[in-house]
Amino acid sequence: MKEAKKIHKVLVTAGPTREPIDPVRFLSNRSTGEMGYRIASESAKRGHQVCLVTGPVNITPPEGIEVVNVMTALEMRDEVLKRTAESDCIIMAAAVCDYRPETASTQKIKKSGSLNVNFVKNPDILGELMGKEDLVKVGFALETENATENGISKLKAKNLDLIVINTVGEGSDPFGGGSVDYTMITRLEKTKSFTSITKEVLAREILDEVESLA
Ligand code: C5P
Repeated sequence: MKEAKKIHKVLVTAGPTREPIDPVRFLSNRSTGEMGYRIASESAKRGHQVCLVTGPVNITPPEGIEVVNVMTALEMRDEVLKRTAESDCIIMAAAVCDYRPETASTQKIKKSGSLNVNFVKNPDILGELMGKEDLVKVGFALETENATENGISKLKAKNLDLIVINTVGEGSDPFGGGSVDYTMITRLEKTKSFTSITKEVLAREILDEVESLA
């Protein structure tokens, strides 16, 4: 059982990471950063001290928070690890690339026949926070099937307090500013589901839950 601790300092990650192949090419994903920025904004509104570690996105961050810009998963990991000791809560909304090219070419790769790039696994940032019992940890997942079951396994594997699962249904697009379907599962397996909810409202629900967990 975790000791109750009031949330004051919130660390939020947002956006995609970008893994360079050469100086002009990279591997990334379609994350827009919308969810993480909404959470940072809602946390600041509630009077928390917020640090937003963000991959490259086209959103202006809210006023009055610390913003740390990163590109790669390794940079995000370093910036997060540097700040966990002073944080009460981490909300990992970033879509961290699971893989990165083993080496990034220093020169633009010339076009010639086929190209083989060897990808290696990026570190699991949340996974590395495993022993940090006094930190409230929130993770996200995108599931297309068995959302509850897969969510609970991820919650346990990463030792999270809360997992927010985007249950991708027909006609719902998890990327950007539209309405989406979500299920939240707590450490004690309390489940709450939302249909067609905006990320602004979801950010409020997440913060309510985090504040009641702490
Ligand atoms: O990609 P996956 O479904 O495992 O992501 C679940 C959670 O883990 C998300 O909150 C994501 O930000 C986090 N994650 C991480 N480090 C990674 C990959 C994902 O912290 N390398």
